Amino acid sequence: GEALAVSARVAPLGSRLVLLLVEDLTEARRIEAVRRDFVANVSHELKTPTGALSLLSEAVMDASDDPEAVTRFAGRMQIEATRLTNLVQELIDLSRVQNDDPLEDAEPVRVDELVAEAMDRSRHAVSTKNITMAAGGTDGLYVWGNRGQLAAALGNLVENAVNYSPARTRVGIAGRRISAPGGDLVEIAVTDQGIGISEKDRERIFERFYRVDPARSRATGGTGLGLAIVKHVAASHGGEVTVWSSEGQGSTFTLRLPEAAASRDRSPVAAPDD
Ligand code: ADP
Repeated sequence: GEALAVSARVAPLGSRLVLLLVEDLTEARRIEAVRRDFVANVSHELKTPTGALSLLSEAVMDASDDPEAVTRFAGRMQIEATRLTNLVQELIDLSRVQNDDPLEDAEPVRVDELVAEAMDRSRHAVSTKNITMAAGGTDGLYVWGNRGQLAAALGNLVENAVNYSPARTRVGIAGRRISAPGGDLVEIAVTDQGIGISEKDRERIFERFYRVDPARSRATGGTGLGLAIVKHVAASHGGEVTVWSSEGQGSTFTLRLPEAAASRDRSPVAAPDD
């Protein structure tokens, strides 16, 4: 109706303009639908832990004369509270990467530092699952961008590699420089020997809240927002993230980012003449 009314009004201006306007309306509707879905998803994701917390607190009150039960319920309350904290933190991260201009405080960032930070973030899970983590090829590589956002992106990829892998497997992080017509790029590949991702799911995992197995993701504290954050950070830095995977064998997520010349990191040298 709306689109037709508009096209009737502007018809004399030519059919190309009409087409553009109709496309604009369709795009506006699509954005509105995505926004509504997002709010619905957030509400649903918040309701799960808050609902559990409220049931568990009732259970604690009812079990006041059974100290063992109280301890058990309190333990589960702690898990739900952690889940809630993770979700809120990831929502804050997502809104930050969507709203801030990452290149406003861009600087050359050492890739080996990013890798060390990412590995440190997964340190706990790595030792509990007895995962062997190895990194290489990052010496002398610098990327150009926002340190905090880049660290969050790589941290998410490493965290996923660990979460979606069985115990006693390997996670590798490999850096290299690749020449590209528009300027050199730095590639950081995170490879795991985990459960892998089917072709159908590979198309959707970068969407906000999409998970292949929601129960498994929740059990590991996942929110379904991590890869949406990674994709956003890559794109806003003029880079990209891609995935290669073989079901049951493992996955490789590759982050490609514009290289920063190492020399930019050095303090300016005083000019010899003044
Ligand atoms: P989550 O918080 O659930 O990990 P992400 O956005 O980081 O959310 O990832 C979305 C989904 O993609 C995950 O729920 C999981 O199903 C799948 N996934 C991500 N990384 C991997 C991986 N390395 N191996 C297998 N599946 C993965």
